[in-house]
Order: sequence, then structure tokens, then C-alpha cells
Amino acid sequence: MTDHQHIKNLIIVGGGSAGWMTAAMLAKQLGNSVSITLIESEQIGTIGVGEATIPPIQNFNRLLGINENDFLSYCNGSIKLAIEFENWRKLGHSYMHPFGKFGADFDYMSFPYYWLKDVLTKQAAGKPYRELESYSLAWHLAANNKFKQPDTNPQSIGSSYDYAFHFDAGRYAMFLREFSERLGVKRQEGKITQVNTEPSSGYITSVDLEGGQTLSADFFIDCSGQRALLLGESLGIEFESWSEWLLNDRAVAIQTAHMRPVSPYTRSIAHHAGWQWRIPLQTRMGNGNVYSSQLMSDEEALNLLLDTVEGPTLTEPNFIKFKTGKRQKVWHNNCLAIGLSAGFLEPLESTSLHLIQTAIMRLVRLFPTKQVSKNLIDTYNKEAQNEYEKIRDFIILHYKVTERDDSEYWRYCQSMEVPESLQSRLDLYQEHGHLVVHDKELFKQENWMAVLAGQNCLPQGVGPVMASRNDIDIDKTLDSLHQSMTKYTSTAQSHEMYLMQHCPHKPA
Ligand SMILES: Cc1cc2nc3c(=O)[nH]c(=O)nc-3n(C[C@H](O)[C@H](O)[C@H](O)COP(=O)(O)OP(=O)(O)OC[C@H]3O[C@@H](n4cnc5c(N)ncnc54)[C@H](O)[C@@H]3O)c2cc1C
Repeated sequence: MTDHQHIKNLIIVGGGSAGWMTAAMLAKQLGNSVSITLIESEQIGTIGVGEATIPPIQNFNRLLGINENDFLSYCNGSIKLAIEFENWRKLGHSYMHPFGKFGADFDYMSFPYYWLKDVLTKQAAGKPYRELESYSLAWHLAANNKFKQPDTNPQSIGSSYDYAFHFDAGRYAMFLREFSERLGVKRQEGKITQVNTEPSSGYITSVDLEGGQTLSADFFIDCSGQRALLLGESLGIEFESWSEWLLNDRAVAIQTAHMRPVSPYTRSIAHHAGWQWRIPLQTRMGNGNVYSSQLMSDEEALNLLLDTVEGPTLTEPNFIKFKTGKRQKVWHNNCLAIGLSAGFLEPLESTSLHLIQTAIMRLVRLFPTKQVSKNLIDTYNKEAQNEYEKIRDFIILHYKVTERDDSEYWRYCQSMEVPESLQSRLDLYQEHGHLVVHDKELFKQENWMAVLAGQNCLPQGVGPVMASRNDIDIDKTLDSLHQSMTKYTSTAQSHEMYLMQHCPHKPA
């Protein structure tokens, strides 16, 4: 390949989390071979939310060479071991989706099968049983507001859980900006007023800024947020809506003062037309209400939020409109969309920053030359579509398998037809508890089981092999597992003490 075929410079449009995550990783992976410019507009600003994550973010930080404690100190961060879902199955009920495994691996049948067999047997006999979550170490730690780093020995029960972070979105973008600028990324302040394309190829050649400056590049990454200034507005790639399954289209966010203790988990509290989040940081709480504008007015949403938050408010309410779905293609010609410009699935399982992370790593893997091959673009788009659809199904699951029928919103969710890919997965599960999950899927058997068991969606029975197995004394094994987890938890320090000792927040 000749040198003139290489991409020499690229422009990232947007300086929200998507823009700066992309800039940081590309600068780290591409070194000096490509000159990177990020354009952002203070006048437009960023969406200002996106503060809860899932465990793979640890890999992203590791690849960047970021020290976890420095990062948490800078970003007012805390640990996230789980999401607690309150009022999702029914009013007054709560369960957790903890990170990591349930129980331990005994043999080729995974732990949830043993749990299902135990529960179905006990239910039939009218006997009490423990919930699936109580066989998760992340649950034990979270429920007791404790944390310690997982054990690195894979044989130890202490290696069975995982964790992610909560952090301040503004500080996160700032952290990555400093990181990227140290690696040579140039930041250009300014509002883009026009995107210029080459008529015959449809490739983007340059962007014009307010004030008359024009910036050109070989490749453009659209991180401009929901507007999708390049891929949507300029190149005309349509948005595919998934609102028939995911009704919410509005949010209102507000920050409140710090309340003790700082819990190591996110709370998701369902209400009659959506749900609220609580994201605990070291010095404040992030709160939001996510709702369907057809069934709840902005005023009602704000009042509900203000009536239920704890502690004095620190900010004015931030109302956000959003669309759930994705662009039909995320890559077209020499333009790739990453972040909200590519698509959005509501924040229920904190998957957006993760989708940004995987989009970036897919780009690094498939990094193109100037004349991008159609095959490469198709491959990228196919992988992205598949990834979004699988996550979409998992999020829809929370709404579909509810026992709630106390409002129009929940009655719709219960009775709606779900995508065929989700329906066939549910049908298989309902027969014998089988959950077939492919290696590349983000949410594994344990994640699906956390929600299914948490919302009391149990199969009719376990398969014949599992049903006839008597070689393991399930009662005794489950008791002993529960005891080891309780014992392990007693050796951990409080989450707040952990933060104070390892990564106390350093204000700017
Ligand atoms: C209610 C809600 C809650 C969420 N919670 C979570 C969560 O808990 N976890 C999670 O992972 N994700 C969450 N998300 C998603 C998360 O907020 C986003 O994925 C993330 O912030 C990335 O946004 P972005 O960078 O794509 O867009 P934005 O933050 O909107 O940034 C867009 C950038 O483009 C720039 N720009 C736009 N137009 C122009 C122009 N003409 N000229 C120059 N610059 C321009 C803007 O100035 C800005 O810098 C949530 C989203 C919503 C709506």
C-alpha cells in the first residue's frame, strides 16, 4: 500500500463523552500516524448526562493506561456493583441485577439451572427458597454497602463478581480531554455551519465554522449528539425508531446534595409512566425521571422527581428529549457516527457509553484507508446493527416481563408484541429454562437470569437431564455457597471507606 492511500488526518465533530472517548482511544492507538482535530461548540454544549457504566469500561481504561484511582478521584466517581430495580415486577417489590456470576460452576450445567430446579421443586412443595440474587457476591456487597477488589485467583469465590463506575459526565469529558490533548489531539472551538461534500463520491471534504474558517480532513467522525449533523443531516442516513417497544422519549435530570451512605449501586425506580434513576457520586446524587411524553407531561415528571428526591437540589432541571433507535447505517462513505448520533437505547442498563466504547474499538480494528472499501463498511454496519438489536432486546425484556397492570403504560408493555428475536428467546426459556446466548453478546446468561428471576418469570420446568440429576445435594450446596458469600462480605470494608482510602474526590 502506498503512503498516499493512508488517512493522514481526521476530524471528530463533538466534545461530549463520545467525542472525547473517541479522541483519547484513537490518539493512543494511532499515535502520530494520523493528525486528530476535535471540534466542539461551547454555545451548543453537551447532553450533560450519562453517569452510570457497566464493567467493560474497565477494559477501556486499561487500554488507555488510565489509573483507576486517579480517574475516580478526578471524576467524583464511585463503584457500581449492581442496578436495583424497584417497582418493576410489581409495586413495592425490588430486586438487583448484580455484576458477575451467580453461585459457582459445578459442572457443565451452569448455576442458574440448579437454582431453577431448586426453586421449582420448593414452589411445588410450598416451601420457601432464596432469591437468585442472594447467590451473587456483588449483591451481598451492594446490599451491605461494601466493596473490595475482586480476587485475582480464578479458583476463589472472590473472583466471581465484577464492578463498574458512576461518575460526573462533565468531569469525565474533561479528564479525557486533558488525556487526549497530552497525546496531541487538537481542540477547535466553534460551531459548524456547513458540511461540504464532493458531489461525485458523496465523501465529506470539509466543514465550515461560524466566523468563516474551513477545516478539511480525510475521514470524519460524527459525535455531534442526537442531531447527527454529518451522518444524518448532511448525508441523509435515516433514523430507525424502536419506540413501539421502548415508549420513553423524555427525561428530566437534576442533581441533589450528597446523602450518606454512598451506595455502590444505581437505583432504577419504576413509576406509572416510566422510571427514575439515582446515581450516587462521592459528593452529590444524580437523579432523573425517564418517561413517555404521551402519558406524562413535563410538569408532572418534574413534580414527581422533586417530590421523591432526597436532599436539597443543586441544579436547575435539565429537560431532555430523545428518540430510541438507531441510524440505518452508522458508517457511510468517509463518515462514521459514534455516540448519540449513531443511536440511543434508553439508559436503563447504562449501555450507551459501552456502545461508544465498542464502536471505537471496532473502528480501531477495521481502521480504513482513504478509499474506504464497501465490504469494510458493510462489515462494520452489520456488527453494529447486531450489537444494538441484542441490547435492545434485553432492555425490552424489563418492560415485557412485568406483573404490573396498574396503568396504561404497563398494560401496553405487558401485552405488546416484542421483536421476533426476543420472543423466540423467551419461548425457549419458558419451556426448560434454556437461554442461548452467543459469545459476542454483551448480556450473558447471568444477566438475562437476573432480570427474569427478579421479575418472577420462571420456566415451566427444567430439562429432563437436569430433572433427573441427583448427584449433587442442592440444598446443602446452596446453603454452603450462601454462607461463603456472607463470610466473604464480612471481610470487606464499607464502600465509603474504600473511596476515602483509595480515591477521594479532588475538586477542580
Ligand atoms: C436521559 C439520559 C440518561 C443517560 N444516562 C446514561 C447512563 O447512565 N449511562 C450511559 O452509558 N449513558 C447514558 N446516556 C447516554 C449518554 O448521555 C450519551 O451516550 C453520552 O453522553 C454521549 O453523548 P454524545 O457525546 O454522543 O453527545 P453530546 O453530549 O450531545 O455531545 C454532542 C457534542 O457535539 C457538539 N456539537 C453539536 N452540534 C455542533 C455543531 N454544529 N458545531 C460544533 N459542535 C457541535 C456539541 O457541542 C457537543 O460537544 C443517557 C442519555 C440520556 C438521554
